[in-house]
Amino acid sequence: MVRKNSVSITINHRRRLLAPAVGLGITALLLTGCAQPEFLLSRDSAADADQPVPASVDGTITLSPTHGSIQGGNLVLVATGEGADVPVTAQFGETAVDCHFDELSARHACVAPRGETTGLVNVALTVDGTPLDPTGTYTYTTPGMQDSPMMTVNTDTVRKKATEIRGSYPRDLMLAAVLKNGAPVDVFGQVIHGEAKPEYFFVPTLADAIKLRESGIESRIAVLYVSQLEHIPLMLHYDIEGAAADASWVAEANEVAASTGGILKVHQWIDTGLGREGATPDQALPLATAIETAPHLELVGIATHFSHITDQDEAAIEDGDLNNITAAQKKRFDDSVAEIRDAGLGTDALIHAGASDVLIHEIDSLYYDLLRIGGAFFGANSPEEAVYSWNTQLETVKTLPAGWCIDYDCTTPTAEEKTVGTINHIPRRETELVFTVRGVQVPVLLNHGTVVTLDLSGVPEVAVGEEVRIDTSPEGFYMLDAASPLPVTTVSG
Ligand SMILES: *Cc1c(COP(=O)(O)O)cnc(C)c1O
Repeated sequence: MVRKNSVSITINHRRRLLAPAVGLGITALLLTGCAQPEFLLSRDSAADADQPVPASVDGTITLSPTHGSIQGGNLVLVATGEGADVPVTAQFGETAVDCHFDELSARHACVAPRGETTGLVNVALTVDGTPLDPTGTYTYTTPGMQDSPMMTVNTDTVRKKATEIRGSYPRDLMLAAVLKNGAPVDVFGQVIHGEAKPEYFFVPTLADAIKLRESGIESRIAVLYVSQLEHIPLMLHYDIEGAAADASWVAEANEVAASTGGILKVHQWIDTGLGREGATPDQALPLATAIETAPHLELVGIATHFSHITDQDEAAIEDGDLNNITAAQKKRFDDSVAEIRDAGLGTDALIHAGASDVLIHEIDSLYYDLLRIGGAFFGANSPEEAVYSWNTQLETVKTLPAGWCIDYDCTTPTAEEKTVGTINHIPRRETELVFTVRGVQVPVLLNHGTVVTLDLSGVPEVAVGEEVRIDTSPEGFYMLDAASPLPVTTVSG
């Protein structure tokens, strides 16, 4: 990995003389692999903080912060009870890093190593070659905004669901797992793979597909919705299948694939009435023709996605009732597939259309060659069954007088005295969130993401620090979407 940012350290004047400690500090920084934090250790006045903070008051080491991304590279401050002249190493799980004394916090500064997987690791300190008795813990999370409340995934729940789905899954039908309901995708992939052995994985992004492949999964993996031209060499490298957009994409994709000498496997999506991915039925045959005549593309799938599965669909399909949305979509799909196959194309392509709701309603006329199952692995009907648990705590609690404005423009002032609490850094999701304190669902008065004000009038004697449970709304089937923090870059000039 390439070092991009220079790490700038200004050492307090008096400490500059302590060469060993400074040297160690820089070594610790140089030793870390990837993300380079740019931090400045300096202070105008060299006040009184030379006194190190005791390692432990209650038998455990406290770290600041207590969690971070598995990518590592961030600074973790650790109270060791030692000063600048004592060499300290911190072992995060299996990986040890050198730390240096930081006067500004009177703690040792360690750069978190890359984590092997998400979850808790023990942190053990070695001071001047001697292991310290108290140990601490540090939690590795997926990369993402560390200020947001940490979400915990119960892999046992996912495992149980995977077993159930495989157990009741129709024989002779291929199973595709769709992983788009949160991270870590590679962990979900491994658990579901271990239990249900899906023949296929479908994911929304190439990054997710690569994570699955790198985690050792050898099943077929396809990216849904879109395959950008710049991704094609990577797709070939990782043996990942794509989605063909239209004839002009096919021409360009064929050129890129030709430049690699490889053959890109693609699925052709048909928009039969969702208004989203895929070509309209009138374009289905021209697109199949383009794919099948492109020497570096191979048509491996013909697919559609339904917009409105109900338990009346089976009967409507049998009766040929095209006023039923699913029956109409199925007819458009079947006609398109027939047109393609009648032209002698796509004969080996897998035909697939249904998702979880088709399996749940057992609409077997929509099974085709495989079902793409997402929600059934991740959804839950009650908070107890939920795969995810997401908690934060009340940071402030206060009582507002009657007639107090809430939110900009004072749209809904309080009618009477009201106890409210604030929580912070709750990223917006596609699905509505519900907040619960002591089992009571509390209304949201104001939601600015970074600050959310909750109406706590239903929770008497509520106090700062109490737990707030966050769930997707029950109508949303206790399930997450794939919303995640955006990658950001900068330019200047
Ligand atoms: C989300 C999605 C699925 C999986 O749907 P679930 O209802 O979550 O099982 C299948 N196919 C496509 C194209 C999707 O977008």
